[in-house]
Amino acid sequence: MKYIGAHVSAQGGVENAPINANLIGAKAFALFTKNQRQWFSNPLTISGIKSFRENCEKFDYRPFQILPHDSYLINLGHPEEGPLKKSRESFLDEIQRCEQLGLDRLNFHPGSHLNSISIEACLKRIAESINIVLDKTKGVTAVIENTAGQGTNLGHTFEQIRAIIDNVEDKSRVGVCIDTCHAFTSGYNVKTEEGINETFRKFDSIIGFKYLKGMHLNDSKKELGTRVDRHDNLGAGFLGEEIFSFIMNDSRFDDMPLILETPEESLWEAEIKKLYSLIK
Ligand SMILES: [Zn+2]
Ligand SMILES: [Zn+2]
Repeated sequence: MKYIGAHVSAQGGVENAPINANLIGAKAFALFTKNQRQWFSNPLTISGIKSFRENCEKFDYRPFQILPHDSYLINLGHPEEGPLKKSRESFLDEIQRCEQLGLDRLNFHPGSHLNSISIEACLKRIAESINIVLDKTKGVTAVIENTAGQGTNLGHTFEQIRAIIDNVEDKSRVGVCIDTCHAFTSGYNVKTEEGINETFRKFDSIIGFKYLKGMHLNDSKKELGTRVDRHDNLGAGFLGEEIFSFIMNDSRFDDMPLILETPEESLWEAEIKKLYSLIK
C-alpha cells in the first residue's frame, strides 16, 4: 500500500498536523515537532501530546505513516566541540519529542564538515552523534536523508550514507530517506528509466532497501549534478513523471511515508491525487 502525504504545518501545536494532513487527502505526513529555526523550543504539553495522538487515531495515521523532520540548525558532524555538543543535545530533544508523540522515526540531514575536518572524520562524528542519542532513547529510528551536496553538506552519495550506517552500533534503529530532488541534483540521474533503475540498483547494493524508511517526492528547479537544493512542484521542474511513476508502481516503496516537500502548498491535494493516478 502506498502512503502519500506532505510536510504539513504544525503551527499552533503539533496536534494540528494530522488535521492539516487530512484536509488535503493525505495518507501520510511530515511535520516539525518544534520551531525548525530554533535550537530549543518549549516542551510539548501534556494536552498537545494527547490531542496529537487522538487526531492521528481519528484520521487513521499510524506511526509508520508519519515522518517528522528535525531542525535545520543541527549539524551532527560539526567540527567544533561547542556547536557539536549543542547539536547533539538538540537532536536528543528532537528524538525525545518523537518518543512522547509515539512516533517511530525522525528524518534528519547528516551534517557538514565546514571545510575544517575531512569527510571521513565528519562521517565518523555523525555516526558517533547517532550512537550517543540512540543510547539515551527508545523506539525511534534515526532516518538519514540524502542531500543535494550543497556547500559542505555530506550524505550526497550512497557510499557516505553507508559509511555512517557502518559506524552506528544499533543498526535496527538507523534508516534512510531518499529525496528525489536531492538525488537528482547530487548527480543520480533519476530522470530517465535507465538512470532510475541504475540509481536504485546502486542504492540496494550499497545501502540496502531494508534501511529505507521514507521518501521525499520533489521535483527539482535545478539540473542534474548541480548540487543545489531547490525543490519544485511535480511536473514544474527538470525531473518529469518517470521517477514518480516508478515509485508508485514498485512495492519496495510500500508501507512508508512518501512525502511531498514541494513549494506551492495549494497544489498538494492535486499532487497527491496525481501520484495515486500513476498506479497502473
Ligand atoms: Zn530534509
Ligand atoms: Zn527532503
